[in-house]
Amino acid sequence: MPLTIRNLSKTYSNGVKALQDVSLDIPTGMYGLLGPNGAGKSTLMRTLATLQDADAGTATLGDIDVLKDKDAVRRTLGYLPQEFGVYPRIKAVEMLDHLAVLKGIPSGQRKEVVNALLQRVNLWDHRKKSVSSYSGGMRQRFGIAQALLGDPKLIIVDEPTAGLDPGERNRFYNLLSEIGENVIVILSTHIVEDVKELCSNMAVINDGRVLYAGAPEAALLQLQGKIWEKAIQKSEMEDYQQRYQIISSKLVAGKPIIHIFSETDPAEGFKRAEAGLEDVFFARINGVA
Ligand code: ADP
Repeated sequence: MPLTIRNLSKTYSNGVKALQDVSLDIPTGMYGLLGPNGAGKSTLMRTLATLQDADAGTATLGDIDVLKDKDAVRRTLGYLPQEFGVYPRIKAVEMLDHLAVLKGIPSGQRKEVVNALLQRVNLWDHRKKSVSSYSGGMRQRFGIAQALLGDPKLIIVDEPTAGLDPGERNRFYNLLSEIGENVIVILSTHIVEDVKELCSNMAVINDGRVLYAGAPEAALLQLQGKIWEKAIQKSEMEDYQQRYQIISSKLVAGKPIIHIFSETDPAEGFKRAEAGLEDVFFARINGVA
């Protein structure tokens, strides 16, 4: 059941164009929506999750009209918002049971469903603690458990790894990649690593526009052989900025290492660098490639 988005636009009342003619084809599997803060990711996620309306455009999930038939979407949607809100001080197992009631899961099945989900997200041993006492990683796994209630075919997770430490992030990646095998999982993130680890397809968006959509490998292939790097002095930065198309710069041991885009060998001590998804991201959002 693919998700087809066509010409979606949204302008907020303050004039911000959060989505500008967005069209995407999202197949089953993990789909990365990559963009810097303010790119329009949450606006798109919230629109698909039927929480707000677009001004124009369409979205269809199989034969469901996502923008019009909101009840049908909600029946098949799992959503983990950026801010999951305040948790009451009740046991996680009770909280999930309560959410299962809201989701309409029949009482005869509820206990089994809730227990299976707690095991699946590896929180079984912590089921009697309150979610308010959980670590960031545990909260996100609980968030996934609630998003999985009712066997959704479309799962939307908005910036799920922000604030997780590396160990928690890895556990969360493993969980998501298991889930993404048979359903659509849209993962919105500003963290390139998230997409690199998990997603077979992706879109890069900025200023409400789609700058790239396709497989990460295809994007990498387009840059192959055209990314060059050099360690420079901080004082040389301005000069290099004027002479080259700098994609990104990062400090290594206090010294800037710059990546530039060039079809041909720029010489001057530049070495060819292997293109990474980071380069794709910065090249696209800086309008270089
Ligand atoms: P992202 O999730 O990629 O950070 P958002 O969709 O949250 O991006 O925001 C896109 C743009 O729309 C930003 O410029 C943001 O400030 C603006 N924006 C988001 N929500 C609102 C709102 N309710 N009213 C006005 N502007 C908004």
